[in-house]
Amino acid sequence: MHHQALPAGVSIAVIGAGIVGVASAYELARRGYEIVVYDPAPPGEAGPSRSNAGHVAASDIHPLSTPGIHWKALKMLINPDGALKIPLSDALKHIPWFWRFWRTSNGKHFEAASNALSYLCRNALTDTAAMLESAGMHNMLTANGGIFIYDTKQSFNAAKHSWANKSVHGFDSEEMDAKQISREISSINDKFRYAVRSQQWAQVQDPLDLVRGLARAAQSNGVVFHRNQVNSLSGSPDCVTLETSEGVSHYDAVVVAAGVNSVAFARSCGDTLPMVSERGYNLTVPAPEVELKLPLVFADRGIVATRLTSGFRIGGWAEYAHPNHPPNQNHFKSIARISSELFPGLKLDGADFWMGNRPSLPDSVPVISRSHHAHRVYYNCGHGHYGLTHAASSARLLSTLLTERECTREHAAYSIARFN
Ligand SMILES: Cc1cc2nc3c(=O)[nH]c(=O)nc-3n(C[C@H](O)[C@H](O)[C@H](O)COP(=O)(O)OP(=O)(O)OC[C@H]3O[C@@H](n4cnc5c(N)ncnc54)[C@H](O)[C@@H]3O)c2cc1C
Repeated sequence: MHHQALPAGVSIAVIGAGIVGVASAYELARRGYEIVVYDPAPPGEAGPSRSNAGHVAASDIHPLSTPGIHWKALKMLINPDGALKIPLSDALKHIPWFWRFWRTSNGKHFEAASNALSYLCRNALTDTAAMLESAGMHNMLTANGGIFIYDTKQSFNAAKHSWANKSVHGFDSEEMDAKQISREISSINDKFRYAVRSQQWAQVQDPLDLVRGLARAAQSNGVVFHRNQVNSLSGSPDCVTLETSEGVSHYDAVVVAAGVNSVAFARSCGDTLPMVSERGYNLTVPAPEVELKLPLVFADRGIVATRLTSGFRIGGWAEYAHPNHPPNQNHFKSIARISSELFPGLKLDGADFWMGNRPSLPDSVPVISRSHHAHRVYYNCGHGHYGLTHAASSARLLSTLLTERECTREHAAYSIARFN
């Protein structure tokens, strides 16, 4: 399809005010576009952008589907405290997605996904810092690294290969012994003796405050927020038509950043977007008595912990289930029990329990792309576990996609056409 660069001043609608939609709107407005954002909820409040762990996971350069994943997945499914959950009622529907997921773990697919993620990761810290700096929010980011905790010597040794590979790509890390662990993380259960500190890792003060602050900065740059749902869109060579809860509106282009709901828009445009909701569970203790200086990843458990301004947040996991199904209360109970095990001094009084739908693609690579079929339709979605980490870089890539006539080599890796 013929593509024209979009000149400054044209009107663009963004569907979704999660971290990805708001970062996109902010960046596009700074390039001189007239931006309107649609979301029935206030910025950041409806999706996983609200209560994620707040990590800028810049050294996570590999897709979730690593070589040998099927054995690991099986073990996790059998273990009641394992990080992976697939309710039987949803399992069959997910088979095509899991097939693509499994294929990612092999040879050239794994390499392509790692390369695409590496580009975003290499830029994550600088792009995030630059975006926050320009929005007057530089103090929201703390880039002192993060710590990966391993349960056993065996899993610690098994991870060495992956850390060595990351170091070849310029992502530094250092091993920690039991003494260093208890010095750096005084609140952790003293049974943990194996850890790796990753330098290219950061955290934000609070994910929801970040989206709200960025939305305010976007508004100062002329972005208009409408609290309406978009029911449908259609692209033509001249304009895009949105049917919203307030009526019909026309724009020069549209960016779909609607989290797990992006699938329906893609389908209506004739694009294949194999996205599922990968649900995560966590709890936040508003006034914890334990401290935590650095963001933590419990690598064998799919659990992360962070000290945020809203409290001490701990949780994770991956449950492949329909986004509208109510959260599984037993998972909250397990997360609470595990939290007390990992941090024996943590009192859970007043804890806020939360579940969020990660918008996940089978190769873990987001779609930052023009539609393959519909005119004037763009996507920035499918960031899975890393929407906060890659929000700034993906917004930058999206805006160059709009301002440039040709698709660059960088853009090719994130194209929606790869799922055709
Ligand atoms: C437990 C957990 C921990 C996580 N931890 C981290 C982390 O530490 N670091 C990290 O980088 N990532 C993390 N993530 C992932 C991250 O939260 C997501 O990748 C990110 O929030 C996705 O942002 P988004 O803007 O694409 O989607 P969303 O946050 O889902 O936003 C989409 C928005 O679109 C709106 N919308 C949907 N349909 C319509 C419509 N028809 N019309 C108008 N608006 C619509 C929704 O209301 C919503 O506000 C975590 C996720 C979970 C669940």
